[in-house]
Amino acid sequence: MRRINLKKANVARSDTIRYINRQIVLNYVREKEPISRAEISHETALQRSTVSLIVEELKNQGLVYEIEGESTGGRPPTLLRLRAAGCIAIGVDLGTAMTTVATGDLVGRVLRRETFATDPDLDVTFNRIVSSVQGFIASEPAIEGIGISLPGLVDPESGTALFIPHFKWRDWAIAHELGKVTGMTVRVDNDANAAALAELWLGRPEIRDVRDFILVLVEEGLGTGIIFDGQVYHGMVGGAGEFGHMTIGKGAPVACAAGSDECWEAFASERAALARYAQEKNGTSETAITFKQLVDLAFSGDEAAKNALIETAHFLGLGISNLTKGLSPEAVILGGEISRAWPVIAEALHSAIAQNSICRGLQSAVTFASTLGEDTRLMGALSLILAGKFASVVPA
Ligand SMILES: [Zn+2]
Repeated sequence: MRRINLKKANVARSDTIRYINRQIVLNYVREKEPISRAEISHETALQRSTVSLIVEELKNQGLVYEIEGESTGGRPPTLLRLRAAGCIAIGVDLGTAMTTVATGDLVGRVLRRETFATDPDLDVTFNRIVSSVQGFIASEPAIEGIGISLPGLVDPESGTALFIPHFKWRDWAIAHELGKVTGMTVRVDNDANAAALAELWLGRPEIRDVRDFILVLVEEGLGTGIIFDGQVYHGMVGGAGEFGHMTIGKGAPVACAAGSDECWEAFASERAALARYAQEKNGTSETAITFKQLVDLAFSGDEAAKNALIETAHFLGLGISNLTKGLSPEAVILGGEISRAWPVIAEALHSAIAQNSICRGLQSAVTFASTLGEDTRLMGALSLILAGKFASVVPA
């Protein structure tokens, strides 16, 4: 059982139980739609009258609507569905190369998007984000909040970007600043944490009943998001999940963001794969191709590209086996462009995990590729707002 956090505890209010019951009913509709009031009552052991009251409230709030089910002889049953259509949140994926600002509906479908190059000048990038966000808000009256995914160390409690290594940005109170100009609720998190949240709420069906998993986000760097007991584990000031800097060897093909050639990131990031490709192709560590092109080359049969991805997968597997030894998650999900290369890398990845899991004596966690595709971080940004609609947290 979870110990009550007295630092954050609100005095229990009379509407607390009602709020929790509301979230349970809403989640039943979300996961099992179309579903009848009677089925919800049966599965939750809530009284029929309680379920009916809650459903009326959810209908009035525009979150669910009724449809007529198939008749099995008598009067056709009335079933409930989630009202997904309509723009409800804005997601901002601030990446090291490009930034995407998009609107999404209640189930995380992207409706409209604008993409631009991320400028190393923080003010230029911020003003560009503000202008996109304000454009969307002006045309979409139902937007409830803005979620932002950032490539660095983020304190989600204060909404501050503590350090974005790629741009050397420090102590940027982005949630406060964007909230001030837009008047919206703004939630911020690190890209890997946000991506893990998206997997939890919007990802593969088989993850729905998993309470503990790790998302490994492979990009220019390498980050991990830890889902522990159905929520993101943040650690002190959002610093958890920095496994990209655990030491796994010496003499990596590139240096990590902090300059070390011993970190997991230096062996298993997109940059590491590109450096391996360049080494095999022309004996240097520099290449003009992008990681996306490297994956395309591997699919077109280029041996050097395939080898670079397979060797990178081996080191990804090494790191994953270390994480599973320490955290024993139910699953590990691989996210980022590399998930597209799954058919090329799966064998090397699984065999590295299996070889290095022997001394643990336990079966290793199932590892699979993310299905959120190239929008993983954007979905993460949206889910910072969307998850709040379904999560079992009593609002302050
Ligand atoms: Zn490092």
